[in-house]
Amino acid sequence: MGATYLGERPLKLHFIPYPAPGHMIPLCDISTLFASSGHEVTIITTPSNAQILHKSIPPHRRLHLHTVPFPSNEVGLPEGIENLSAVSDLVNAAKVHQATALLRCPIEQFVEHHLPDCIIADFLFPWVDDVANKLNIPRLAFNGFSLFAVCAIDKLQSNNTNSEEYSSFIPNLPHPITLNATPPKILTEFMKPLLETELKSYGLIVNDFAELGGEEYIEHYEQTTGHKAWHIGPASLMCKRSLEEKAERGQKSVVGADECMRWLNGKRVKSVVYICFGSMCHFQDKQLYEIASGMEASGHDFIWVVPEKKGKKEEKWLPKGFEERNAEKGMIIKGWAPQVVILGHPAIGAFLTHCGWNSTVEAVSAGVPMITWPVHDEQFYNEKLITEVSGIGVEVGAKEWSILGFGERKHLVPRNSIEKAVRRLMDGGDEALAIRRRTNHYSIMAARAVQEGGSSHTNFKALIHHLKLFRDRKSLHQ
Ligand code: UDP
Repeated sequence: MGATYLGERPLKLHFIPYPAPGHMIPLCDISTLFASSGHEVTIITTPSNAQILHKSIPPHRRLHLHTVPFPSNEVGLPEGIENLSAVSDLVNAAKVHQATALLRCPIEQFVEHHLPDCIIADFLFPWVDDVANKLNIPRLAFNGFSLFAVCAIDKLQSNNTNSEEYSSFIPNLPHPITLNATPPKILTEFMKPLLETELKSYGLIVNDFAELGGEEYIEHYEQTTGHKAWHIGPASLMCKRSLEEKAERGQKSVVGADECMRWLNGKRVKSVVYICFGSMCHFQDKQLYEIASGMEASGHDFIWVVPEKKGKKEEKWLPKGFEERNAEKGMIIKGWAPQVVILGHPAIGAFLTHCGWNSTVEAVSAGVPMITWPVHDEQFYNEKLITEVSGIGVEVGAKEWSILGFGERKHLVPRNSIEKAVRRLMDGGDEALAIRRRTNHYSIMAARAVQEGGSSHTNFKALIHHLKLFRDRKSLHQ
């Protein structure tokens, strides 16, 4: 009887999201899911990030924010710059990352005084492993990747231990995969110890639903690593939100959700291409020029999100007369866009994306096929999942793998490749129809996954059960 009583007690959970939109957004959605299921949740973050979260996560009496100071002086960053989305070069990005290592001391002190039943932390905080072990608390890891990418990175590392350059062919996965670019060794080596530490955790939380990556990758992962992966996504579908709350997800949009809706309401079903490269991809002007020219040549309508150029005066990256000629056909959003709201509109027919994992899952959830243009991090792996494994997109032909999304690139993706890829999906034809059918199928699966009895919902319940068992066994032995 005692165990039953213990099992009914809500869990006490601490979440530690990494300060970058692609990491914070899904982990905070997941934390909201735990809170709305009756568990006591504390998100530990820094003051500027807390301000973003205050606006973007729906208020809930079980969801608390705890802030620790961001060590701006120690790393030489101006006050208030506490997130990778607030910097636009590698030097400052490295300082943000360096600062996250210095958060250990204040976070450890807080955790010691407010012992949780479990810590759920981003893998970019490897020191949480030590803290959790010291305090005998289970730790769940989160990296914001697809499990497919995690498996592919692991295989690539184990197959290239001695070579100077990693190859782009990845053997021993359920599908033979050849990437369109070679991963920079510095990136793969940066990830290696982080992924190793991740494997020491109690399990990995994945913002995906089992049907998308496929059971075969879950089996592959669990068999080759002995580690448990919990697919509980898509994060964007987990929490019920108003249009305004959806629009504020992650950051405040520079354009109102209602303005986007009004513009899209005037367009035909599946006639608009949505273009966005996530939160950290800054293209040179000449690449933006190629995108504008390619889109114009395709003849299709578009919503194009271009990051605000911080500290720089507006540069000329549009062809002469472009805005006048495309006043009806296109909408350019300079800064943060309400992506989930836009993707959910029936007028959106394709998404030209950098294949960030959140964007990918959001597109799938909305039933929008993708034109893939990976740029940095694990996006080249996701491209293969989209185009070859799941068959829900076409490639633009990007071949240059950058470190984060900053800096000069040697190779442009030319306008004719952009036009061709857009036409391949948007001009109709058998291939496009088949891709749309498959995307639609996955979107139905995504919606089902988060409903009662769906795969992610079942995984979520099983995870809670495991965490409660762990806690209750621990307390019986104390
Ligand atoms: N996002 C958004 N508006 C923007 C840019 C990005 O809402 O203008 C959101 C997007 O919906 C996604 C996240 O930011 O949830 C980006 O994550 P992703 O993994 O796709 O890419 P990253 O930014 O990490 O490269």
